[in-house]
Amino acid sequence: MRRLIAGGYVPLIVGGLVAVIIAAQALTLWRSYQATWQLALRSGENALNTLSSSISRNLSLLDLSLRGAEEAVATSGLSDISPELRQMVLFDRAAGAQFLGSMLVLNRNGSIVYDSGSVPPRVGNFADRDYFTAQMDGSRGTYVSAPFESRLRAGDPSIALSRRISGPGGSFDGVVIAALRIAFFQLLLDNVDLGPRSVISLTRSDGTVILRHPSTDGKGNTGVSVAASPVFQRMMTRPGEPFSDRSVFDGENRYYLHTQIAGFPLLLSVGISTQAAMGEWIESAMTSSALTLGMCVLLILLVRALRLALMHSQDMEAQLEVLSVTDQLTGVPNRRAFDLAAATEMRRAARNRECLAILLVDIDHFKKVNDRYGHSVGDELIARIAKQIVRSVRRPGDFVARYGGEEFIVILPATDGAGATFIAERIRSAVASMVPSPAEAALTQVTVSIGAAVAEVEPSSSLAELVNRADRALYEAKGGGRNRMVIDPEDQGQPAAGG
Ligand code: GH3
Ligand code: MG
Ligand code: MG
Repeated sequence: MRRLIAGGYVPLIVGGLVAVIIAAQALTLWRSYQATWQLALRSGENALNTLSSSISRNLSLLDLSLRGAEEAVATSGLSDISPELRQMVLFDRAAGAQFLGSMLVLNRNGSIVYDSGSVPPRVGNFADRDYFTAQMDGSRGTYVSAPFESRLRAGDPSIALSRRISGPGGSFDGVVIAALRIAFFQLLLDNVDLGPRSVISLTRSDGTVILRHPSTDGKGNTGVSVAASPVFQRMMTRPGEPFSDRSVFDGENRYYLHTQIAGFPLLLSVGISTQAAMGEWIESAMTSSALTLGMCVLLILLVRALRLALMHSQDMEAQLEVLSVTDQLTGVPNRRAFDLAAATEMRRAARNRECLAILLVDIDHFKKVNDRYGHSVGDELIARIAKQIVRSVRRPGDFVARYGGEEFIVILPATDGAGATFIAERIRSAVASMVPSPAEAALTQVTVSIGAAVAEVEPSSSLAELVNRADRALYEAKGGGRNRMVIDPEDQGQPAAGG
């Protein structure tokens, strides 16, 4: 696990984790985007369908009334019946509808002959109106006029449906018209709420706006021509096909749904503002994306910090491990390291039935050195003698440790009495011939005494006993005048098991 964390896998794992988190976030956002957009689209479609069928139904009813009036006018004897009866025959109940301006029968000069609103008819001539001229030029069926300001109703914005009255042989005998107040459309469109910055427009197929909601001029943009606008042109060339474009009125980007009003040359369109419809989504998407990103960054930082801490602690542990088995003053292994190494060497020697030699090296009269030259000179001396001892033992398995204050211990594996004596002598003479202290010229010579013990190791052999024997030999060396080595007699002269 530790190797896994400290190794090169961590960036991969964290990278994978971050990728998964970001992918999950992206998927969630995409789904919520789709859901939000679908909802906006559906409410747009619903509004479009409801409005267009309502407009179509009302215009059809009006058209039906017009056709009735047209037929009644063609019936002979209309002028002979009583005015009340004539009104009933000409203008059925549709004529009383709330948003119907007036139904009129005009003669071939454009003057009012019959008027749904008054008996006798009001005086007026409408030969200039497009609903009149269009029918005069030839039958158009039911004609939907451009918006106009009603002269009979104080400028009330209206449109009119008109039908031609043809005499025998197709001569032009006048028109019947039904004026419809634009307020009717206004009321319909006012009731639809598609959210901010979305629009609904009713436009004649020649590009004349009948009503735009909300309007940009405060008057429903009635009468404005959008014939040249790309949005309108696209609606005309590709009927029913939704698309996105920029509005010529306010520059807003919208998604347009549109339909023809069944049976009439009118176009109804709903433009959903993409920004307004998705505004809330964009806001929440930005917030949650920022949170996710922050989380990923935190995750990366956390893992990085943990990894560094772990690597640091591993370094520390390794250092401590080395420190715990090393003597600070001399740099050679300490007593603890000796215990570990000696146990291993004893087991190995027992397995191989080999000899093992132990040397105890003790500095002579060291107390005096300390007393005369000071502790720091003493310390320096201990370190330099350690170097001499290490230099004197050269085989790979040989092991030097600081055993106590000014005592060192040497393990010599596969070494017999002769070998031990040889090495001990080399240590002794190396120390005796060294310059004891460069810092203290008065200190001219220092010596060591060495006690050696050798044993042919068996599984039952005791390390402590071997060390005790070396200690006894050291005591003898001291007693014998110091600066010498003594080997414990028990094994002296035994044949060597190894080199
Ligand atoms: P001998 O062994 O020849 O009998 O005499 P000695 O004076 O060396 O014997 P003893 O064991 O009485 O004294 C050892 C001294 O070594 C005592 C202690 O102050 C000193 N010593 C032990 N460890 C250190 C050390 O790390 N630094 C220094 N400077 N002195 C130490
Ligand atoms: Mg001592
Ligand atoms: Mg000593």
